[in-house]
Amino acid sequence: MNGVRGRDGAPGAQVRVRASGKLNLALGVGRRQPDGYHPLATVFQAVSAFEDVTATYAEGVSVTVSGLHADLVPLGEDNLAIKAARLLAEATGIEAAVHLHLHKGVPVGGGMAGGSADAAAALVACDALWGTELNRDQISELAALLGSDVPFAMHGHTAVGRGRGHLISPAMTRGSYHWALGLRRNGLSTPRVYAAFDALIGDAAPDEPHLDAELMRALRSGNAVALGAALSNDLQPAALELAPHLAETLALAEDAGALGVVVSGSGPTVAALAADGDQAVAIGSAMLAAGVVDDVLCVTGPVPGARVVHGIDQAPQADDEW
Ligand code: ATP
Repeated sequence: MNGVRGRDGAPGAQVRVRASGKLNLALGVGRRQPDGYHPLATVFQAVSAFEDVTATYAEGVSVTVSGLHADLVPLGEDNLAIKAARLLAEATGIEAAVHLHLHKGVPVGGGMAGGSADAAAALVACDALWGTELNRDQISELAALLGSDVPFAMHGHTAVGRGRGHLISPAMTRGSYHWALGLRRNGLSTPRVYAAFDALIGDAAPDEPHLDAELMRALRSGNAVALGAALSNDLQPAALELAPHLAETLALAEDAGALGVVVSGSGPTVAALAADGDQAVAIGSAMLAAGVVDDVLCVTGPVPGARVVHGIDQAPQADDEW
């Protein structure tokens, strides 16, 4: 260790933070506004595909990456974890001095906001490492500056997102849900999917998208069958236009017994809701056997937002706490 230290910590101190990827159980998209953004009404669920971010004191700010699709992640200043560290340093007047190691469990470019999870985790990790004394609300305000999905990555669990998806309010839910996720290594660019949405739907989209009451009711009562029937995504037709093969994946998961299927966010990840963990594995196996996906993840949700799992002077906590 090089002896660099922040306001509060010791040289060599390390903090590990875990944040998770998200699914959009519903994604209502409104008409493109003059500022270029689309108003959203979405229900996020954080699922057990995790990003583990380890922050260590170092000269300057740097990043390394391991895990799922690690070779697809930029290592320069455009990495969202680096942006988060720099923003926190700038906002607090603390010297930016950290090495960030990202261990990825969320597919890159998969519509599951793994980069946003890294940004949220880096904020929480650097906050603990540098002892900034910001409270959680202040950190969440910084999160919104980094991207529309970052506030939810801070929050976790199940929540409604409005505005650009950044205005978060908790959703009342019961129970735990099992998902089989069909992954593609070739991601879909979110701006391209929105452009395809504009071309397909354009002015026919509402100014204020609304959320299906049935979906909220299903979540409140813990009714997985009703939730499966209520899954929706206004971006799905646009994602299918850009990646027609997704139609086969959706149909296959449905035939394999899924309670409901939906493209997650801007895709191309396909989320299939299962009745239990065994059925999720069976649906995932069917997708893999048919060769319609490159990989499969079986996850549960909801899980918490970005939080320290191994802090300064703190013993590692068991993973099963999640
Ligand atoms: P979006 O949030 O744009 O909808 P996504 O959820 O589909 O994206 P992400 O894996 O979050 O997918 O990232 C999309 C792009 O952001 C990647 O292709 C990559 O170039 C860039 N990126 C920047 N930082 C990261 C990071 N830490 N992890 C992954 N991708 C990153």
